[in-house]
Amino acid sequence: MSLGSWLKKKAKQLKDFVEDLLGDGEEEVSDAIESGGNAAKDKADQIADAVKDVPIIGGAVASVVRWTGRVTAGICELAANIVKGIGAFVKASAGLVLGIIEGIVTGSLGTILDAFVDYAANIFGGILIIAGGFISLVQIIFGTQKEKRKLTEDERELLELIYQKTLKLNNIRIVEGRSGIYSFNDRPFVKGNLIYMKNISPADWNWNLVHESVHVWQYQHYGARYAADALGASIFLGKDRAYNWLKEIRPWTNFNAEAQAEFFEDLYKCVEIQNPAGWIQWIQGDGGFFMGDAITSNRFRFSDLDGGSCWGDAKHPLMDLTDFGNETVDHVRSQAFD
Ligand SMILES: [Zn+2]
Repeated sequence: MSLGSWLKKKAKQLKDFVEDLLGDGEEEVSDAIESGGNAAKDKADQIADAVKDVPIIGGAVASVVRWTGRVTAGICELAANIVKGIGAFVKASAGLVLGIIEGIVTGSLGTILDAFVDYAANIFGGILIIAGGFISLVQIIFGTQKEKRKLTEDERELLELIYQKTLKLNNIRIVEGRSGIYSFNDRPFVKGNLIYMKNISPADWNWNLVHESVHVWQYQHYGARYAADALGASIFLGKDRAYNWLKEIRPWTNFNAEAQAEFFEDLYKCVEIQNPAGWIQWIQGDGGFFMGDAITSNRFRFSDLDGGSCWGDAKHPLMDLTDFGNETVDHVRSQAFD
């Protein structure tokens, strides 16, 4: 083995070691704080329900107790975001140092540039997620955002179907409707484990939830940097291009953060199911692609019509991307938490 490749191996080992060391601790602490806050809120709601019918003072006491529960959960959410953010800062610094060492050792300028990009994503992601947690808390205190809720049974079922055990569903919360300053546009928005669904209609609910749930998956698996990755893709690539995963280089893990989310949205929307007569039935939005033996019974076809479509025409024929879809879903499902 040459000295160069030996050094490269050592640098890689060191990098993996530091990443392993950092990865777990931060995630566990952040999860524990967030679930603690959510449990406190559930308890406060229970107490409020118990006292609300007490004559004269019951209603007022219940409101105060509920508010206290919401604010406690908001404080814990912010604390969890801070832990994740700090985790991203530490990862940023360690990654930069190790990336530069690896780049010098291997004489690869690309590695050094990648290290700088990762550094920026981790730093900005950390800042965004901490600032986001702070904004949420202020909005909870002043009541400018609707109360967060757990996933419904149907939502849990859908997300479990897609991710199996690789998304921590108990940590996810949804805000429907009023979202304070996050209402600056109509699009749903993800801050860590919190999905602001805004005023999405019931008909558009599930495919939007699928898209946003990928951002939560990114947060749970890659940390706070997902926020910078997603925002950066929209800013630097432009909205249309950022979401156009057909233009990204496969595999899915190389896709920008918005394209990753859009791909799952399209897998959800564009499934084709074979019926006994051999016809392909196009069934929008039932999650069919993620069900059962997808390889033999379900198909995913897509064309570049209008920048990406479940339909094609003579100039934009449908491409059969079933294998790529299955590969990607398998990859995502293989990323188990320890
Ligand atoms: Zn998105």
